[in-house]
Amino acid sequence: MPIQSINPATGVLLRSFTPLTDEELFQKIALAEAAFVHAAELPLSHRALCMNKLAQLLDEEAADLAALITSEMGKPIVQARAEIAKCAAVCRYYAEHAARILAPEPIDAPSIDASVRWDPLGVVLAVMPWNFPFWQVFRFLAPALMAGNVGLLKHASNVPQCALTIETLVRRAGFPRGSFQTLLIEASQVERVLADERVAAVTVTGSEPAGRAIAAQAGWLIKKSVLELGGSDPFIVMPSASLDAAVEAAVAARCINSGQSCIAAKRFLVADSVYDDFESRFVSAMDAIKVGDPSLEDTRIGPLATLQQREELHRQVQAALHAGACVLTGGEPMLGRGFYYEPTVLADVPRTSQVYREEIFGPVAMLFRVAGIDQAIAVANDTPFGLAASVWTRNRAEQKRFTAELQCGAVFFNAQSASDPRLPFGGIKRSGYGRELSAAGMREFLNAKTVVIAQPKPNP
Ligand code: NAP
Repeated sequence: MPIQSINPATGVLLRSFTPLTDEELFQKIALAEAAFVHAAELPLSHRALCMNKLAQLLDEEAADLAALITSEMGKPIVQARAEIAKCAAVCRYYAEHAARILAPEPIDAPSIDASVRWDPLGVVLAVMPWNFPFWQVFRFLAPALMAGNVGLLKHASNVPQCALTIETLVRRAGFPRGSFQTLLIEASQVERVLADERVAAVTVTGSEPAGRAIAAQAGWLIKKSVLELGGSDPFIVMPSASLDAAVEAAVAARCINSGQSCIAAKRFLVADSVYDDFESRFVSAMDAIKVGDPSLEDTRIGPLATLQQREELHRQVQAALHAGACVLTGGEPMLGRGFYYEPTVLADVPRTSQVYREEIFGPVAMLFRVAGIDQAIAVANDTPFGLAASVWTRNRAEQKRFTAELQCGAVFFNAQSASDPRLPFGGIKRSGYGRELSAAGMREFLNAKTVVIAQPKPNP
């Protein structure tokens, strides 16, 4: 893909960039290698100082940074500001907690003096998507830099200005030169970067094909990889749920980021006894949601990030209808300029259809009627993905069963699924492997080095 910013609300080309040459790429990797030596020598307290400064810059410049996100990928401005605030929060979280997470752990075993210490791995490549162009990067960079790793960012080709701005912010926060660099490269150049022996590991947030290609190469090279891929998360409503709260959360969970979120709820599984009520309220709420100019304060859904995204979404809606689904509202691209799509609700999507097994990345919900908890669990697990689940029930016994039997990385009861610096985040099945955030996320790119000190034998 060409490296270009195109405003999705207007279709106007904002800026184009030329990809780095091999020579320029080589120089950046060399700088990263040198920065790693320097970073490892920096006291943790100094890194924390820089990380807090980074949070402060994000707070102070939130209005401009949010406007940049909105112009480059169409996120409604209120949500863009929330994204910047969350980036500041993750910086502060790791500035405060890194010392605890990185502290050597004594091993409690009789007769040996042993411990585990956490060493950084070195230069880590981050391949990132456009949907949360700051947050996805910050949730990698904050723990990585606090741990003494350095980062190379290959951001999605449609958000180059966000990518360059992040590099500048990190530098302005006081991190040494080369600690975090943006590589303006195309997807085809990732292979070259990963193959470089100075690059130790890779993290990918993106689609299944990207994850598969990069992980295959990392496996061949025997380099550590973390994959945060797609999802088709269930949103389950049981009879004991508060329907008012569930409907409100369902709309928010499907429409956040104009439906372009890995942990957006995508399949809505509703118990038979409350299905009709839920369906009519949900459809009315989806009908009423404000779609439009993402720079306006009251817009809830903006344009999709690219024209290709909208075309792919419409192909999926058409495929669902062709397979026998019915449309309860929406179902069409919106007329006029910009890449807008109508908020859409589908029912009766056959579970045997191809589209049922795909991730739907846009404001399109699929509703399913389930007879009870057994069927809710069976349908929820009937997907190649396993990121998160949002379950609405006040029944303790049901909560226990869902907790044990849902195949996913996280279960939220009576709440929308969400990422949070304090909570491990990641999936199973084709949603990927490894974790981000919390202590677990920081340790993905650390060497758990075992240290054993034998007691010297007394002199005879
Ligand atoms: P994408 O097309 O896979 O792109 C993600 C990144 O991978 C981009 O930087 C892209 O570069 C690069 N890329 C694509 N194919 C590649 C290849 N063969 N080799 C090397 N790099 C490659 O995904 P997207 O459309 O940007 O993002 C949406 C996807 O991300 C969805 O599936 C969503 O669920 C997932 N996602 C997951 C999480 C999570 O935490 N689990 C979070 C957010 C998003 P180019 O832009 O240059 O193609």
